[in-house]
Amino acid sequence: MQIANNTVVTFHYQLTEIGGDYTEDSTSSEPMLYLHGHRGILPGLEDEMLGRSPGDRFSVTLTPEQGYGLRNEEGIQRVPVKHLIGRAKPVVGKIVSVNTSKGEVRATVVKVGRFNIDVDSNHPLAGKNLKFDVEIIDVREATMEEVAHRHAHGPGGHQH
Ligand code: ZN
Repeated sequence: MQIANNTVVTFHYQLTEIGGDYTEDSTSSEPMLYLHGHRGILPGLEDEMLGRSPGDRFSVTLTPEQGYGLRNEEGIQRVPVKHLIGRAKPVVGKIVSVNTSKGEVRATVVKVGRFNIDVDSNHPLAGKNLKFDVEIIDVREATMEEVAHRHAHGPGGHQH
C-alpha cells in the first residue's frame, strides 16, 4: 500500500543537524506512527512521504522554514530564578518550565546567575538545517476513528 491521505504510516528515522552535532535515531526504540495528511509530523517531511511504500528508504533535507522554524531572538529572556516552575536546580542546556510575561513556557537554560537565569524558548532545532534518513516500515488504511481524531492510534501513536 502506498502512502496517501488518511493512511497510517509507521517509519524509522535518523535525524542529523547539518553542520552541527545534534542527532536523533528512532531505531533504538519503537518506530514513529502518524496519520498522513493531517500535519502530524513536520510538513517538509510529510510532503516527501506521499506515494512511498513499505521498505522504501529515502533522505530529505529540510531548511529551518520546513523544519522547526527560524530562531526568534526575542525568545531569549532573563527571568528571576523564583519564576522557575518545579524545584529542579537550573543547569545550562537543561529544559525547564518558567513563568514569563507570556505565561508558562518551556525553555532551554542558557545562563545561570545568582538571582536571574537566561532562558531560550526557541525550539532547540529552530534555525537549523536538518537531514532525515527515513525507512518506511508499514502503511495501512486509517480507521474512521483515527480520521475523526486526526491522529494515529496504537503503539507509537495516541493511546486513549
Ligand atoms: Zn484519538
